[in-house]
Amino acid sequence: MKITVLSGGTGTPKLLQGLKEIVDVEDLSIIVNTVENNYFSGVYISGDIDVVMYTLIDMIDEEFWYGIKGDTYVTSETLKKLGCPEKLRIGDKDRAIMIQKTKLLKEGYKLSEIVDLQRKKLGIKSKVMPMSDIDSDIYIDTDIGNLDFHDFLIDKQCKPQVNDVVYSIVPPAPEVIDTIKNSDMVIIGPSNPITSIMPIVSIEGVKDALKNKFVVAISPMVGEGAVSGPASKFMNALGYEASCIGVAKLYSDFVDKLIIDSQDENLSEDVKNIIGDVGICNTMMKSLDIKKNLAKMVLDSYNL
Ligand code: GDP
Repeated sequence: MKITVLSGGTGTPKLLQGLKEIVDVEDLSIIVNTVENNYFSGVYISGDIDVVMYTLIDMIDEEFWYGIKGDTYVTSETLKKLGCPEKLRIGDKDRAIMIQKTKLLKEGYKLSEIVDLQRKKLGIKSKVMPMSDIDSDIYIDTDIGNLDFHDFLIDKQCKPQVNDVVYSIVPPAPEVIDTIKNSDMVIIGPSNPITSIMPIVSIEGVKDALKNKFVVAISPMVGEGAVSGPASKFMNALGYEASCIGVAKLYSDFVDKLIIDSQDENLSEDVKNIIGDVGICNTMMKSLDIKKNLAKMVLDSYNL
């Protein structure tokens, strides 16, 4: 069975840890959000793509859901001594992967070509592709003005009030639409709906391709809101409740089934009325067993 997964850089990679244990990894294609890609400390960073790649080969630093576990920080510390602001703390091995991306981009290669080369060199058997080869412009409209995404996230620690999240719509990377069309099912992982999933869905041709497929999504909103990160603020700013109901409303025209957390069982009828089908499961992915169990429920949705 061919499976396409839409992913950001934290929630969905956790699901991938379970999924890769129970499916043939060669049948997995992961389309990854690139809306946050940018240059930092002289290197091009496609954070979500790197997290997905490192997760697939068990290299991810699970403490931060960023970077490579056991990495060293000699370059980072040296740069700081030299007065170079390292906005993102980048490990040495992690930086090597970024340096190669930066070099190849300068030489004129497309991001999708570079990611494909790197995933093969790293021994990753699943397909990993950026949603686009073109960078998006994203800013967060807040009560203290428009902020660059990372300024909002890191410098301002997500504290300002958010009025809107604005990003440019970019064209799909070459294989994105065909990958969705050629898959048996699509999984939308529990990633930030506003800054990870909708940027992919908004790409021309993606929503139409999803409408013709069996699509299962997992809610990243559990109980009062997001499990981590600023997704609740972003949902509210765009007029959606920060709950599985808000996710259901946002995804209603391209998702066939929404899996919600057991804590939200009381909302299952409401979700069903919006989406049509609902699954209830422990989605708090604190152990490999929970991740595998959730992945199995997602797959069973197709087989049923
Ligand atoms: P980002 O690229 O780092 O923003 O990461 P993602 O968009 O992939 O994931 C962020 C979202 O993952 C947040 O909205 C969280 O609510 C969600 N998330 C993280 N861990 C879990 C989990 O264990 N279960 C569920 N249901 N959602 C999670």
